[in-house]
Amino acid sequence: MSKPSVAVHKFSSCDGCQLSLINLGESLLVLSQLVEIKHFAEAGPLDEEAKVDIALVEGSVSTTEDETRLKKIRDNCTYLMTIGACATSGGLQALRNMANTDEWIADIYANPSVILSLDNTTPIKDHVKVDLELWGCPVNKKQILGAIRALLFGVLPEEENDKVCIECKRQQTVCVMVTKNEPCMGPVTRTGCGALCPSVGRDCYGCYGPAENVNTDALANRLLGFGLLKDEVARRFLFINSAAAAFHKQGMSMKEAD
Ligand code: SF4
Ligand code: SF4
Ligand code: SF4
Repeated sequence: MSKPSVAVHKFSSCDGCQLSLINLGESLLVLSQLVEIKHFAEAGPLDEEAKVDIALVEGSVSTTEDETRLKKIRDNCTYLMTIGACATSGGLQALRNMANTDEWIADIYANPSVILSLDNTTPIKDHVKVDLELWGCPVNKKQILGAIRALLFGVLPEEENDKVCIECKRQQTVCVMVTKNEPCMGPVTRTGCGALCPSVGRDCYGCYGPAENVNTDALANRLLGFGLLKDEVARRFLFINSAAAAFHKQGMSMKEAD
């Protein structure tokens, strides 16, 4: 019986989520015995047009060429899973959606006419059907392995959309907002990272994107109460996941009120 097949594709991104896969180390070797990795340019195998059971997609869509390539990837796979903030919400590069792209390009490139970027950079789900999204900048190893294992058994993994605060409570991590007045984004950010930042004494900056049913108004008011300016609060929301709806709405309302 042939092994299930996997491909890893990259769009606009820093490659950090693919590195998380490579950093699986021994677990990646075990995985490579259970599945056939047909395309993973960063790790070696090359067959971009291969038909596969699972396509992992990193990065956001920035050019018309990206759109065409992504549609082919969707046609060639059974399950499509986005890995990381770039692919799920547009990532850091979506910050340019709030600026004048033409002006930036003109400032940077000697010949702007050779740059064929779309006006906005957008997440994968804006272009094709996505079966599963893994958030985070980067995603963590345990999530990737758990998701692939579930898909290999033909089930969709359970979505993790609790807040980071819940994870702090589970781990009995001391709250940095209560004890150090740190402007923590944990009350509105989805977990999946194991409350990594609070566990080492620093505030969460929202890299896993919005959790379910978030009260962003309440958190924004609390951050103002710590003495942050409205623009500083806006920047907390308009950062790695600036294009995710709940963060975008709150960030823009603080920016406009500034
Ligand atoms: S989500 Fe973060 S780590 Fe992953 S590719 Fe994008 S910028 Fe890099
Ligand atoms: S440290 Fe942050 S994430 Fe953890 S409980 Fe406090 S506010 Fe929530
Ligand atoms: S605590 Fe927040 S910023 Fe840190 S890894 Fe988790 S989601 Fe990202």
